[in-house]
Amino acid sequence: MTIVMNSALDEAKEADLLAGIPDRLFIGGEWVEAEHHRVIEVIDPSTGRRIASVADASVADGIRALDAAAAAQADWSRTPARVRGEILRRAFDLLQQRTEQFALLMTLEMGKPLAEARGEVAYGGEFLRWFAEEAVRIHGRYGANPEGTGTMIVTQRPVGPCYLITPWNFPLAMATRKLGPALAAGCTVVIKPASLTPLTTLALVALLEEAGLPKGVVNVITTTSTARLSEAVLGDHRLRKVSFTGSTPVGVGLLKLAAPNVLRTSMELGGNAPFIVFDDADLDAAVEGALAAKFRNMGQACTAANRFIVQEGIADEFAARLAERVRAMRVGRGTDEGVTVGPLIDHKAVGNTQRLVDDAVGKGAVLLAGGSAIDGPGSFFEPTVLDRVADGMSIKVEEIFAPVVAIIRFTDEADAVRIANDSEYGLVGYVFTQDFKRGQRMIDQVDTGMMGLNVGVVSNAAAPFGGVKQSGVGREGGLEGIHEYLEAKYTLVPDAYSA
Ligand code: NAD
Repeated sequence: MTIVMNSALDEAKEADLLAGIPDRLFIGGEWVEAEHHRVIEVIDPSTGRRIASVADASVADGIRALDAAAAAQADWSRTPARVRGEILRRAFDLLQQRTEQFALLMTLEMGKPLAEARGEVAYGGEFLRWFAEEAVRIHGRYGANPEGTGTMIVTQRPVGPCYLITPWNFPLAMATRKLGPALAAGCTVVIKPASLTPLTTLALVALLEEAGLPKGVVNVITTTSTARLSEAVLGDHRLRKVSFTGSTPVGVGLLKLAAPNVLRTSMELGGNAPFIVFDDADLDAAVEGALAAKFRNMGQACTAANRFIVQEGIADEFAARLAERVRAMRVGRGTDEGVTVGPLIDHKAVGNTQRLVDDAVGKGAVLLAGGSAIDGPGSFFEPTVLDRVADGMSIKVEEIFAPVVAIIRFTDEADAVRIANDSEYGLVGYVFTQDFKRGQRMIDQVDTGMMGLNVGVVSNAAAPFGGVKQSGVGREGGLEGIHEYLEAKYTLVPDAYSA
């Protein structure tokens, strides 16, 4: 494993980029100071250095943002769909032109390697383009009622002002995956990015403004008073929906807060993805798939393969080949050429990873690569492979969120299904087999919202992303995504000839 920690930084380029990023709240189309003039320090996790400070909103600032969203709702919902779509399309074009700036910004505030950050600009941008196209395809229906006494007209209307909460792991894509459908549907929003990575959302909203978004349609709140501010916003009767991406415990808390106001909710929560490899799998494809499913974003993805469930006959070779590739990985600052594994988001994440690895090794797991935190200043952990993970180890049940492969061995198909479904989560599953019928059986039996058959990455703006069980409710992207922000309205018109 090569660790790249001290290569020259292009400090002038970085300073130049950071100087152009807004550092205040965006409310009613104006960049404004936070009420108490407090700030949030943004840290580069690969150096531990402060790279920027942004406004730290108070509860009153959050309500001011909702005031602006509520005031803009009527006009935005009456803005022609074509106009809404064209603003999103212009934003998509601007984002493509600024791929390098957005990629570098994400690498600086979150740590992912630049190549992956560029990939996120492409992926995240697709939600703007996809929903630009969907804005003009919001269809209703029309037909006679079964009794023949009237005509039923079903139209789709925007839900109303929405509160969007996003996590730090995909600072751009998690924002566009919510903003795209909300704006296309005609909803106004207050968006709250994670306080660890606020810069990308601030830059994105400046870009939306440049693309022609009217004042008040999108409002941005960056805050460390997250719980209190969110409680106040969710308790305000003008809000109609909350869409959250983050951890399951926080999502559950938000569902409770949403109940008194009977809000529409979309919850994209935690994952514990099974990655199942059968003896008959194409081993090359399974190893490549495993690397993609585990190490993208340093394992900090809700879709990251968490449990590698591997059949006995292929397990030794799979583990050895994976460990060999993992030992050759270059760890370091994401801006450095050739780095494929960046830092974890903070030292707390490093400590948690060490706890999971030590617990597993202490209980008999076999360490094939890595296994330790890397000394600072950044928050790095060695890419790690653990074989013979078994019952009783925390790593088998918890979401790892780090570059750690945990291999669990199984004997037959029923065993694989049982292990895969032995989780409170159900976001995504991956299956590697060359037996197509077996693949079909697994797709049917593994309890998840998404499956990859012989692939390690499934995300696509045109597909419905989301989970079952404690992985959430609702879908983002695809034809389904826009319906999270629409309400069906039914009108009955009496038949002209009935009495
Ligand atoms: P988190 O739940 O700690 O934070 C997510 C967001 O919620 C942040 O903006 C945070 O500031 C905010 N938040 C925290 N406490 C809050 C509260 N009491 N009230 C309102 N908002 C609050 O999660 P995280 O650590 O940022 O992200 C990692 C988690 O997100 C993982 O569990 C991962 O699986 C999940 N995730 C899920 C998806 C998905 O689509 N299913 C995508 C990415 C991440």
